[in-house]
Amino acid sequence: MTAGGKDEPEALDTEALAAESMETFEQLLAESTRIHGHICAGQVIGVRMAMAALERIGISDPKGADRKKLYVLVEIDRCATDAIQSVTGCSLGKRSLRWLDFGIMAATFVNLESGRAIRATAREEARTLSESYCPEIMDKYQRQLEAYKVMPLEELFFFQEVSVQLNDCDMPGRPLRRVQCQLCGDWVQDCREVEVNSKILCRACAGERYYHVIEAPKQT
Ligand SMILES: [Zn+2]
Ligand SMILES: [Zn+2]
Repeated sequence: MTAGGKDEPEALDTEALAAESMETFEQLLAESTRIHGHICAGQVIGVRMAMAALERIGISDPKGADRKKLYVLVEIDRCATDAIQSVTGCSLGKRSLRWLDFGIMAATFVNLESGRAIRATAREEARTLSESYCPEIMDKYQRQLEAYKVMPLEELFFFQEVSVQLNDCDMPGRPLRRVQCQLCGDWVQDCREVEVNSKILCRACAGERYYHVIEAPKQT
């Protein structure tokens, strides 16, 4: 076939398709806002953090072709965490999202295929830096929200290249182990049992019980 008219539209179609599959910031923010239930600075921070980190670890299609390559560890259970879940498609239920209760607005994004990992931390200074953006907005929180949309990434985040040792028991897939607590009889999956005085116990029976039983079920 000779060069000319026929090839060009095909090339354009491919480009258009690629552009369509790459969700834009606005689309991702709208989706995370829907899932989270409201728009807030945390949604903006979370969406921008996740987009920037995914790009740095070479993940372009987190909910499609790359979905099994991605693993995220979040260090806080706040608004931005929902945005990170929404953008990456990673979740607790899929075991591709892990929550570490550190209380730090940070998350580490891991490319399981390449081993490349980026820890992104929201900079505390961003609050003050945001004051020089959108000065026309009087409300402080509204101004932060709008400023976070346009501020350069380096004013919002620190990015560290890190290496993460992931535990086999924390990975997606079938549980490696299911054992029964020798005290209460509950079944414990994923290696979360503990051994106390040579007894296999669930964490509750080992002293971490967070509830107090008021009414026990009937014995069967
Ligand atoms: Zn929120
Ligand atoms: Zn138990």
